Amino acid sequence: MKTLLLPSGSAIPILGQGTWYMGEDPVQKQREIDALRLGMDLGITLIDTAEMYADGGAEEIVGKAILGRRSEAFLVSKVYPHNADRRGMQAACERSLRRLGSEYIDLYLLHWRGAVPLAETLEALAALKKAGKIRDFGVSNFDSSDMLEACELPGGEQIAVNQVLYNLMRRGIEWDLLPWCRRRSVPVMAYSPLESAASEQRRLLNNPQLKAVARRHEVSAAQIALAWLLRQEQIIVIPKAVDPLHVRENRAALDIVLTAQDLLELDQAFSPPLRSIPLAMR
Ligand code: NAP
Repeated sequence: MKTLLLPSGSAIPILGQGTWYMGEDPVQKQREIDALRLGMDLGITLIDTAEMYADGGAEEIVGKAILGRRSEAFLVSKVYPHNADRRGMQAACERSLRRLGSEYIDLYLLHWRGAVPLAETLEALAALKKAGKIRDFGVSNFDSSDMLEACELPGGEQIAVNQVLYNLMRRGIEWDLLPWCRRRSVPVMAYSPLESAASEQRRLLNNPQLKAVARRHEVSAAQIALAWLLRQEQIIVIPKAVDPLHVRENRAALDIVLTAQDLLELDQAFSPPLRSIPLAMR
């Protein structure tokens, strides 16, 4: 699996597996564990989760999927903003570690900005890192002004990633956030790369130009949407898939090489931003 370097010097895989909505339905649990294991078998060892997902249920699914193979996995989890103070974060991290069945989290993110002062959150994250509970930390759903503010604070220089909504239909970050992160060598993790809501996903994947590019490559529209993200520098992509066919397709998207003509057609179908627009979020 291709990796890129975090500011700490650690390597992070550029393709991962999301887990939002996993752990909610007891009937689906084994399928979800099997999907994550299949992904790992195919080399997709980065797994993204959060204490929020299914109230810890997704972290438990991840814990079962990585049982006996912790060393292969790169685990990303997220802390709720309301737990992101000194005491709350330590307890939240311990709970996540217990559910994951792991002694450490590779990358721990503030899920979104809340009421706790950023300086306190960064101090708490740095303390967890020093204690060896997490290897790296970062943020999620931070816009340019949040990033500027955070990076000026003590510990801010350690921010390893910013996880944000980014896909062909949501290109707003290309205006300023993405260039800023690239200049500072802070990788962006693209969440909902295929649009999680069914109606929006249909709108994306049924786009005629996207389908035409997919036909030329003899792959699915979803694979082209992922390949478009994966080809970019400093981007990590974390589609969630339970269907084993989807897991295999997503792994195969790594091998697709888009041509200049493909990129032109995709730009015509999904235009880049022409002005600053507020950060899109789930
Ligand atoms: P997504 O991964 O873009 O889309 C998930 C949907 O796409 C599922 O319904 C899945 O179906 C389907 N799918 C996956 N691969 C496919 C393929 N090759 N062809 C067709 N359909 C495919 O949306 P997401 O779950 O919102 O985002 C991914 C991950 O990002 C999340 O799971 C979560 O870990 C993270 N996330 C973070 C935040 C944040 O605030 N930081 C917000 C949202 C998401 P099946 O499951 O049936 O295979």
